[in-house]
Amino acid sequence: MSDAPVQIVFRNIHRHNSHTLAVYREFGGYQSVAKALTMAREDVIDEVKRSGVRGRGGAGFPAGLKWSFIPKEDSRPKYLVCNADEGEPGTCKDRDILRFDPHLLIEGMMIAAYAVGCEQGYIYIRGEFYREAERLQAAVDEAYQAGLLGDNVLQQGIRFHLAVHRGAGAYVCGEETGLLESLEGKKGQPRLKPPFPANIGLYDCPTVINNVETLAAVPEIILRGGDWYATLGVAKSSGTKLFSVSGHVNKPGNYEVELGIPLKTLINDYAGGVRGGWQRLKGVIPGGSSAPILTADVCDTITMDYDALAKAGSMLGSGAVIVLDQSVCIVRAITRLSRFYRHESCGQCSPCREGTGWLAQLMARLESGQGSMTDIDLLLDIGNNICGKTICALGDAAAMPVMGAVKAFRDEFVFHVQHGRCMVG
Ligand code: SF4
Repeated sequence: MSDAPVQIVFRNIHRHNSHTLAVYREFGGYQSVAKALTMAREDVIDEVKRSGVRGRGGAGFPAGLKWSFIPKEDSRPKYLVCNADEGEPGTCKDRDILRFDPHLLIEGMMIAAYAVGCEQGYIYIRGEFYREAERLQAAVDEAYQAGLLGDNVLQQGIRFHLAVHRGAGAYVCGEETGLLESLEGKKGQPRLKPPFPANIGLYDCPTVINNVETLAAVPEIILRGGDWYATLGVAKSSGTKLFSVSGHVNKPGNYEVELGIPLKTLINDYAGGVRGGWQRLKGVIPGGSSAPILTADVCDTITMDYDALAKAGSMLGSGAVIVLDQSVCIVRAITRLSRFYRHESCGQCSPCREGTGWLAQLMARLESGQGSMTDIDLLLDIGNNICGKTICALGDAAAMPVMGAVKAFRDEFVFHVQHGRCMVG
């Protein structure tokens, strides 16, 4: 990792009136797209590829590579869709970009649209983000008035229109093909893949879908170069990341840091430390509620990058770091998450539709002290029969926290069976 300071990409976020075009421009806004328009489209894609930036929504797929999948010799319209449906429990980073730096996202989308030859973009924003949608729409309106969007972008003879679309609050619409279905006006049920959206996406046309944070990183990448961006972070996890740190810390919030930062540094130096001190730490869910929990001893040394977290049996996901101290009953916490996933299953595939319900029922039984030892292993059995056997990742997202908790905190499950109550009273 380099010694670069934090707030590299999202440096406007704390400025007064940072959401306005005037402030965004005052601090260098829209210079990056002006530069991009002087470059060949392939060179823009190559720059993003060189940066190594990976999708910040959770999947971690390389953004430049995704753009390069859009067929060039294809007469169909091409679409760019921004996934602003931030619904993963614990995650609130995109929300801050939308309300404090919407022009950064718009500029990133303009660059992405130019790179893939797209003339129409959509921002699909989570329905509950009412005020953020208002701010975002105001920023889009400002951009139109300033000639940044429309039929003649920056007077360069390029067309790019952008529409804000509000979702209705379904978690599954954060899955990219579920989002596309919803955007088309249908039920937000994920599609079977392949074909992938790069070929058959919105209205059956080639489509790029990127997360808010991913697109917002693009202006800085183009301005300062992909090679510069790749110096930040660690191998295979380049750049910076906004981590949403919540739970039992003294200063919960969104923090931009380089990937590869030790989790302990993120919690202690940025989020004010664990409530009552590090020795009170019980575990951390490192990447949103679907990421398997890490025990305190793992948290001592783990770094926050894609590979390290995968090696530890968890994942970086959306970068929502949920810190749990000794006052937490793990069984109760996971029971709550299981209820959430059961509620959000779209019901298309049996392992998810039935399995999420069974997990939630078993967890509730164990939590209430009515469970048996066989129930504990049954959780693992059901989880194994969900993971990798469903149309979208929601099934895995429901199973992984349960399986992770059973593996890491089995003693708490056993205590519930033997004593009919939780360890923490
Ligand atoms: Fe729907 Fe669940 Fe299947 Fe995803 S995994 S398509 S949410 S039933």
